[in-house]
Amino acid sequence: MKLSKLLFLGALLFWVQPARAATEVVASTPELAAISKAVGGGKVSVYSIAKPNQDYHAIEPRPSDVSRIARADLVVRAGLSLDVWMDSLMNAAGNGNLNRGGRGYVDASTGIPRIETPSGSISGASGDVHPEGNPHYLYDPIYAKRAAQNIVRGLIRVDAGNASAYRANYVAFNRAIDNKMDDWRRALAPYAGRPIVTYHLSYNYFLRRFGIRQYGTLEPKPGIPPSAAHLSQLASNMKRDRVRGVLIEGIYPRRFADLIKRQSGANYEVGPYSVQSYTGQGYINLIDNLVARTRAALG
Ligand SMILES: [Zn+2]
Repeated sequence: MKLSKLLFLGALLFWVQPARAATEVVASTPELAAISKAVGGGKVSVYSIAKPNQDYHAIEPRPSDVSRIARADLVVRAGLSLDVWMDSLMNAAGNGNLNRGGRGYVDASTGIPRIETPSGSISGASGDVHPEGNPHYLYDPIYAKRAAQNIVRGLIRVDAGNASAYRANYVAFNRAIDNKMDDWRRALAPYAGRPIVTYHLSYNYFLRRFGIRQYGTLEPKPGIPPSAAHLSQLASNMKRDRVRGVLIEGIYPRRFADLIKRQSGANYEVGPYSVQSYTGQGYINLIDNLVARTRAALG
């Protein structure tokens, strides 16, 4: 084909499909990016500041993240102090629409009943990284639907012209979760009431949803690395109570899990921390994987 013809076809294509810029969504975590993509579909482009398998409590944003936020239409954050680093990024970006309470601002935790809210005030010195309660609600598929609802409301605020597409995608995302819930419940029903040990309190919303008991954590407190004294106490409690299930979130060091294995005799499995893709199936795959690893840990 001649160059002139190619150029002509290219121009025609451009003319037939006038490019309306996609709504730019910047999410703080890969899970929020995946859910944003599921409900935004082809109308959005999504970017996640935290990358899969980075500790979401401890992200060090780059200068390029500031420019991403400066030109974004919507920011989606986890809230509950999981991503406090978003505050300085948003301040630096100076995009007024995205300020807390602005039309382009979504706190995905809105309306989610939080667990493990500290009774007293937590000082920075204690090092506990859950000062507003447990922020890991996205491992619970029912709360993922709530987060999706918050995101859809935000998308409609900034891009009302595509409201019907966003609502249809939201209905489809809900249906996908509802269809899987029965499978997930059936898969975990045999383990109801069983105790499980994790490294961090990451999976507690998930475990509660499926009736599994969080027995303890390798960390003495959220964000505080395991100590020898804490691990040996935990191991002796586990032996006393015949606790066999240990599920270590994939981002944490294995050496502490190896120690618990030696001291308690309990085997451990490694669970997923992040979605591996931002497609509509990314979130469903994460929970599929988490259910399978939980069964393995308790089996
Ligand atoms: Zn945490």
